[in-house]
Amino acid sequence: MIPFTGNPLNRASERRTDQNWIDSRRRDPSSLVLPLWRLQPFLAGPERSRPPLKLGLLKPQVADAIAGTDTICIFLGLEGETALFAVEVPDRADPAKIPSLASLGHFRDARTAASSVSLRDAALIAQAKAMIDWHQRHGFCPKCGARTKLMDAGYRRLCGQCNSEHFPRVDPVVIMLATHGDACLVGRGKQFPSGMFSALAGFVEPGETIEEAVQRELMEEAGVKVSDIKYHATQPWPFPSSLMIGCFAKAQSRDTRVDENELAEVRWIERSVARDLIEGKPVAGVKLPPPIAIAHHLIRAWALDEK
Ligand SMILES: [Zn+2]
Repeated sequence: MIPFTGNPLNRASERRTDQNWIDSRRRDPSSLVLPLWRLQPFLAGPERSRPPLKLGLLKPQVADAIAGTDTICIFLGLEGETALFAVEVPDRADPAKIPSLASLGHFRDARTAASSVSLRDAALIAQAKAMIDWHQRHGFCPKCGARTKLMDAGYRRLCGQCNSEHFPRVDPVVIMLATHGDACLVGRGKQFPSGMFSALAGFVEPGETIEEAVQRELMEEAGVKVSDIKYHATQPWPFPSSLMIGCFAKAQSRDTRVDENELAEVRWIERSVARDLIEGKPVAGVKLPPPIAIAHHLIRAWALDEK
C-alpha cells in the first residue's frame, strides 16, 4: 500500500450541512479530535519516541482546552460510530509548553509523522493536513477580497460580501516512469540531496489530459518522446494539496536533453540496478526515494515486474 492512500473513514458528506449534528458530534465525549499546530499533526507519546507511532487523537474537551473553539475545525468522517475531527491549534504559543498537552504527546512535521505511523493514521494526516492548510490560505475571497467563512464542516467557504463559494482544491500532478527496453528514466532535481534520483513529475495544466501532461513533461524536462502511457496508481500528497497520478510510458529512444532550469541531471538506470536499490542494496552514486513517495512504488512495480 502507498502511504496517504486507503483512508478508512466514511466521510458522511450528507451530514456536513447539518450544523446541529456536527455541533453535537463535536461535543460528544466519544468523538476524537486530531490537533494540528503549524500543520504538524499531534502524535501520542513523547518526542523522543521511535516508530511505530500513533496519532494523538484527543477527547473533544481536551482538544478544546488546547485549540479553543473558534479555530478551523474539520469533520473528517465516521469510523464505525465514532466521529473524527481535525482542529487547528492557534500559532500563537508553543503548545509543547502547555503542561496538559506535553504529557499526552507532541507535534511532528507531517511528512516525518506520516512515515512513522500506520497506513490508517497516515491517510488521516493527508486529509486533515490538506484541509486545514487550504483553509489557512483561503481566508479571503479571490473574487472580491472580502473575508470568507468556513461552511459545511470545512468542505466549503462562503464569501460574506459577494456570496461566491469556494471548495477545497486538489491539484493533479502527473508522475511518470519512462522506460526503454530494460531501463527506466530518473532525474535529479536541483534541490535534491546528492545522488537522489526520482521519477519525473509536473502539474497537469488546464485543458490537458493526463496522457498529454505526461508527454509534455517528459519532453520539456528530459527531451524524451513517449507513447503507450499507462495509469498505475494515485496518491494524495498533502504538500499542500496534490494528487499524484502515477503512470508508465514507453520512450522512443534513450536520447535525452535536460531542461537545466528544472533538473540537475537525468539518467537511465537498468532494471537490475533499480531492483537492487528498491531492495535496499547500496549502489554507488544513486539513491531512490523512500516508500512514502509514489515514485518509489512506481519504480518498484516496474523493477520487480509487479505492475
Ligand atoms: Zn467575494
